[in-house]
Amino acid sequence: MKTDILSTDRASVVQLLARLGEPEWRAGQIIDWAWRGVDFDGMTNLPVGLREKLAGCATINLPQIERKLVSSIDGTIKYLFRLSDGEAIESVVMRYRHGNTICISSQAGCRMGCRFCASNTCGTARNLRVSEMLGQVIAAQKDTGKRIDGIVLMGIGEPLDNYDNVLSFIRAVSSEEGLNIGCRHISLSTCGLADKIYRLADEKLQITLSVSLHACSDEERSALMPINNKWNIEALLRACRVYFNKTRRRISFEYTLIAGVNDTPGHAKRLSALLHGYFGRSAPFHVNLIALNEVEGRGYVRSDAAARFARELEGLRVNATVRRILGPDIKASCGQLRAHNIHPEPNP
Ligand code: SAH
Repeated sequence: MKTDILSTDRASVVQLLARLGEPEWRAGQIIDWAWRGVDFDGMTNLPVGLREKLAGCATINLPQIERKLVSSIDGTIKYLFRLSDGEAIESVVMRYRHGNTICISSQAGCRMGCRFCASNTCGTARNLRVSEMLGQVIAAQKDTGKRIDGIVLMGIGEPLDNYDNVLSFIRAVSSEEGLNIGCRHISLSTCGLADKIYRLADEKLQITLSVSLHACSDEERSALMPINNKWNIEALLRACRVYFNKTRRRISFEYTLIAGVNDTPGHAKRLSALLHGYFGRSAPFHVNLIALNEVEGRGYVRSDAAARFARELEGLRVNATVRRILGPDIKASCGQLRAHNIHPEPNP
């Protein structure tokens, strides 16, 4: 097995150098290059002999850009990356006034089975290694020539189902010797693995936790998200409350509006009562209203009531924003491109 430089820490690189009879101080040079997405043969301040030795026993495991789509509407870029074992994942680079944010995948596939989501079309999931998550950020920076300022773990996969690697990734990417992207610029979205939310609360990271709620009764949520049968709304919101108490970070709830399913005035009232019930009047939470990206064959239709629903929530003292739709022309939503590339549309 070759050492995967971007998945290991500095101490392991030092050990590797010791085995090769090389001095410790080379580690900094190697890691520096790797973080810039440069392979061993391009590490020009290393002797050629060392570069060759490294190539024989180590790897800079960067995902390869297989496809790149650029939205002609808002400049959003979507990458389809190919991993070393042939798996495909997606990342999206979004350009905001305050900088560039990348949405990355944490698994190849997803096991959670949310009914409206395209990520699980292909069954099983493989956890991404640390280098495969870092690689999405590094490859996007290298390709665009622009610094990435923020990261959202909202692409394919359930980040808390790949807990250890995701935590190592967050620590690496936010470290000063890494990409130095502060935790306050990192969001992690979960479908609601309550046990892992308790664990995350104890890590005391300043990241933003986004929780995919999408419904305000167990019956309705279980119909959309099978994970609700394991961790129901009460278990989930209790964990969220503890997360807030320990981190003092405001929680963001994702609510995808689906016509006739969760978008009536009654739903807005129940959602407000539910969240105020757990968080009290001071409301240390925010609701993000997402437009459904319709996935063929699922029977769910995008609601056109987002503005009305947001107004109703505001009237009920719930902070809510309607999330802008980015890259509507390039299938910029979760799993859509991957699904398309694994099951290509039949030729006419
Ligand atoms: N597994 C994590 C992160 C990935 S999905 C989670 O569930 O939170 C990121 C967000 O997009 C989630 O809120 C998810 O429910 C939502 N989402 C997935 N598919 C969607 C679709 N087709 N339309 C709108 N939102 C979708």
